[in-house]
Amino acid sequence: MILPIYNCFNPVLRKKTEDITEITQDTITFINNMIETMYNADGIGLAANQVGDLRSIMIIDNTKEEDSKAKPIVMINPKITGNTELLSDYKEGCLSIPKFYEVVTRPSEIELEYIDVNGKKHKLGADELLARVILHEIDHLNGILFFDRITPLKKALAKSKLRKIELNKVIPHYDMMSANNKIIKGVEE
Ligand code: ZN
Repeated sequence: MILPIYNCFNPVLRKKTEDITEITQDTITFINNMIETMYNADGIGLAANQVGDLRSIMIIDNTKEEDSKAKPIVMINPKITGNTELLSDYKEGCLSIPKFYEVVTRPSEIELEYIDVNGKKHKLGADELLARVILHEIDHLNGILFFDRITPLKKALAKSKLRKIELNKVIPHYDMMSANNKIIKGVEE
Protein backbone atom coordinates (compact mmCIF):
# COMPACT_ATOMS: atom_id res chain seq x y z
CA MET A 1 0.00 0.00 0.00
CA ILE A 2 1.33 3.41 -0.97
CA LEU A 3 1.25 5.82 1.97
CA PRO A 4 1.14 9.63 1.77
CA ILE A 5 4.50 11.25 2.54
CA TYR A 6 4.36 13.80 5.34
CA ASN A 7 5.29 17.39 4.61
CA CYS A 8 8.41 18.54 6.52
CA PHE A 9 6.26 21.07 8.39
CA ASN A 10 4.06 18.33 9.86
CA PRO A 11 4.99 17.94 13.56
CA VAL A 12 5.66 14.19 13.15
CA LEU A 13 8.87 15.04 11.24
CA ARG A 14 10.16 16.74 14.41
CA LYS A 15 9.56 13.74 16.64
CA LYS A 16 12.25 11.30 17.61
CA THR A 17 11.39 7.71 16.68
CA GLU A 18 11.63 4.84 19.15
CA ASP A 19 13.61 1.62 18.92
CA ILE A 20 11.66 -1.53 18.11
CA THR A 21 11.86 -4.42 20.57
CA GLU A 22 9.96 -6.99 18.50
CA ILE A 23 9.51 -7.49 14.75
CA THR A 24 5.88 -8.52 14.28
CA GLN A 25 3.83 -9.25 11.16
CA ASP A 26 2.54 -5.70 11.48
CA THR A 27 6.16 -4.43 11.35
CA ILE A 28 6.79 -6.43 8.16
CA THR A 29 3.59 -5.14 6.53
CA PHE A 30 4.58 -1.59 7.45
CA ILE A 31 8.08 -2.05 5.99
CA ASN A 32 6.60 -3.38 2.74
CA ASN A 33 4.36 -0.30 2.58
CA MET A 34 7.41 1.92 3.13
CA ILE A 35 9.24 0.21 0.26
CA GLU A 36 6.28 0.59 -2.09
CA THR A 37 5.91 4.24 -1.06
CA MET A 38 9.61 5.04 -1.60
CA TYR A 39 9.72 3.52 -5.10
CA ASN A 40 6.45 5.19 -6.08
CA ALA A 41 7.95 8.55 -5.10
CA ASP A 42 11.28 7.78 -6.88
CA GLY A 43 13.13 8.21 -3.59
CA ILE A 44 16.44 6.64 -2.57
CA GLY A 45 15.63 6.61 1.14
CA LEU A 46 12.65 6.84 3.47
CA ALA A 47 12.33 7.05 7.25
CA ALA A 48 9.24 5.87 9.16
CA ASN A 49 8.25 9.29 10.46
CA GLN A 50 8.06 10.49 6.85
CA VAL A 51 4.96 8.31 6.60
CA GLY A 52 3.71 9.31 10.05
CA ASP A 53 5.03 6.41 12.12
CA LEU A 54 7.39 6.64 15.09
CA ARG A 55 9.16 3.30 14.85
CA SER A 56 12.92 3.47 14.25
CA ILE A 57 12.92 2.07 10.71
CA MET A 58 14.50 3.36 7.52
CA ILE A 59 14.90 1.97 4.04
CA ILE A 60 17.48 2.81 1.41
CA ASP A 61 18.06 1.97 -2.24
CA ASN A 62 20.70 4.13 -3.86
CA THR A 63 21.44 1.69 -6.68
CA LYS A 64 19.38 3.52 -9.32
CA GLU A 65 19.72 0.60 -11.71
CA GLU A 66 16.45 0.57 -13.54
CA ASP A 67 16.74 -2.93 -14.98
CA SER A 68 18.12 -4.76 -11.95
CA LYS A 69 15.61 -6.00 -9.44
CA ALA A 70 15.28 -3.43 -6.70
CA LYS A 71 16.86 -4.49 -3.42
CA PRO A 72 16.19 -1.99 -0.67
CA ILE A 73 18.26 -2.15 2.52
CA VAL A 74 15.98 -2.19 5.55
CA MET A 75 17.57 -0.81 8.72
CA ILE A 76 15.85 -1.14 12.08
CA ASN A 77 17.12 0.78 15.13
CA PRO A 78 20.15 2.13 13.20
CA LYS A 79 22.91 3.78 15.27
CA ILE A 80 26.03 5.58 14.01
CA THR A 81 29.04 4.08 15.80
CA GLY A 82 31.76 6.13 14.12
CA ASN A 83 32.58 8.61 11.41
CA THR A 84 35.68 10.04 9.79
CA GLU A 85 36.59 13.67 10.20
CA LEU A 86 36.74 13.91 6.44
CA LEU A 87 33.73 15.85 5.18
CA SER A 88 32.05 16.09 1.82
CA ASP A 89 29.50 18.38 0.19
CA TYR A 90 26.53 17.15 -1.79
CA LYS A 91 23.27 18.67 -2.98
CA GLU A 92 20.47 16.90 -1.12
CA GLY A 93 16.75 16.65 -1.63
CA CYS A 94 14.01 15.08 0.47
CA LEU A 95 10.62 13.54 -0.32
CA SER A 96 9.15 15.57 2.59
CA ILE A 97 10.53 18.84 1.14
CA PRO A 98 9.40 18.62 -2.51
CA LYS A 99 11.55 20.24 -5.19
CA PHE A 100 13.95 21.83 -2.69
CA TYR A 101 17.67 21.13 -3.00
CA GLU A 102 20.64 22.48 -1.06
CA VAL A 103 24.26 21.51 -0.49
CA VAL A 104 24.81 19.83 2.89
CA THR A 105 28.20 19.05 4.48
CA ARG A 106 28.44 15.66 6.17
CA PRO A 107 31.09 13.10 7.18
CA SER A 108 32.13 11.16 4.06
CA GLU A 109 32.62 7.80 5.79
CA ILE A 110 30.63 6.26 8.62
CA GLU A 111 30.18 3.09 10.62
CA LEU A 112 26.85 1.97 11.93
CA GLU A 113 24.91 -0.85 13.52
CA TYR A 114 21.35 -1.87 12.77
CA ILE A 115 19.13 -4.91 12.76
CA ASP A 116 17.47 -6.35 9.66
CA VAL A 117 13.91 -7.65 9.18
CA ASN A 118 14.96 -11.04 10.58
CA GLY A 119 16.25 -9.44 13.77
CA LYS A 120 19.87 -10.07 12.80
CA LYS A 121 22.40 -7.47 13.93
CA HIS A 122 24.69 -5.92 11.31
CA LYS A 123 27.77 -3.70 11.46
CA LEU A 124 28.34 -1.72 8.30
CA GLY A 125 30.93 0.70 6.96
CA ALA A 126 29.62 3.09 4.29
CA ASP A 127 30.99 5.91 2.20
CA GLU A 128 29.99 8.19 -0.68
CA LEU A 129 26.28 8.32 -1.53
CA LEU A 130 25.33 5.42 0.77
CA ALA A 131 26.87 7.16 3.81
CA ARG A 132 25.07 10.35 2.92
CA VAL A 133 21.65 8.72 2.52
CA ILE A 134 22.13 6.83 5.80
CA LEU A 135 23.01 10.06 7.65
CA HIS A 136 20.05 11.89 6.06
CA GLU A 137 17.62 9.12 7.10
CA ILE A 138 19.05 8.76 10.62
CA ASP A 139 18.57 12.52 10.99
CA HIS A 140 14.87 11.97 10.15
CA LEU A 141 14.61 9.28 12.84
CA ASN A 142 15.95 11.90 15.28
CA GLY A 143 13.56 14.63 14.11
CA ILE A 144 16.20 16.54 12.11
CA LEU A 145 15.66 17.87 8.56
CA PHE A 146 18.43 18.53 6.06
CA PHE A 147 17.69 22.26 5.93
CA ASP A 148 18.63 22.39 9.63
CA ARG A 149 22.18 21.72 8.41
CA ILE A 150 22.50 24.49 5.80
CA THR A 151 23.99 27.88 6.65
CA PRO A 152 21.68 30.50 8.24
CA LEU A 153 22.23 32.72 5.19
CA LYS A 154 21.14 30.00 2.76
CA LYS A 155 18.19 29.21 4.96
CA ALA A 156 17.14 32.86 5.04
CA LEU A 157 17.36 33.00 1.23
CA ALA A 158 15.19 29.88 1.00
CA LYS A 159 12.50 31.23 3.32
CA SER A 160 9.88 32.00 0.66
CA LYS A 161 10.47 28.64 -1.08
CA LEU A 162 10.00 26.79 2.20
CA ARG A 163 6.89 28.84 2.97
CA LYS A 164 5.38 27.69 -0.36
CA ILE A 165 6.12 24.09 0.60
CA GLU A 166 4.45 24.63 3.97
CA LEU A 167 1.33 26.03 2.22
CA ASN A 168 1.19 23.04 -0.21
CA LYS A 169 1.91 25.24 -3.21
CA VAL A 170 4.67 22.87 -4.32
CA ILE A 171 3.01 19.61 -5.34
CA PRO A 172 5.10 16.57 -6.30
CA HIS A 173 3.89 13.54 -8.30
CA TYR A 174 3.15 11.55 -5.12
CA ASP A 175 0.51 12.15 -2.43
CA MET A 176 1.52 14.15 0.62
CA MET A 177 0.14 14.71 4.11
CA SER A 178 0.10 18.44 4.78
CA ALA A 179 1.40 20.24 7.87
CA ASN A 180 -2.12 20.05 9.33
CA ASN A 181 -2.88 16.43 8.30
CA LYS A 182 -4.78 16.90 5.04
CA ILE A 183 -4.01 14.64 2.10
CA ILE A 184 -2.69 16.60 -0.89
CA LYS A 185 -3.03 14.59 -4.08
CA GLY A 186 0.07 14.29 -6.21
CA VAL A 187 0.12 15.78 -9.70
CA GLU A 188 2.02 14.28 -12.64
CA GLU A 189 4.25 16.81 -14.35
ZN1 ZN B 1 14.46 13.27 3.77
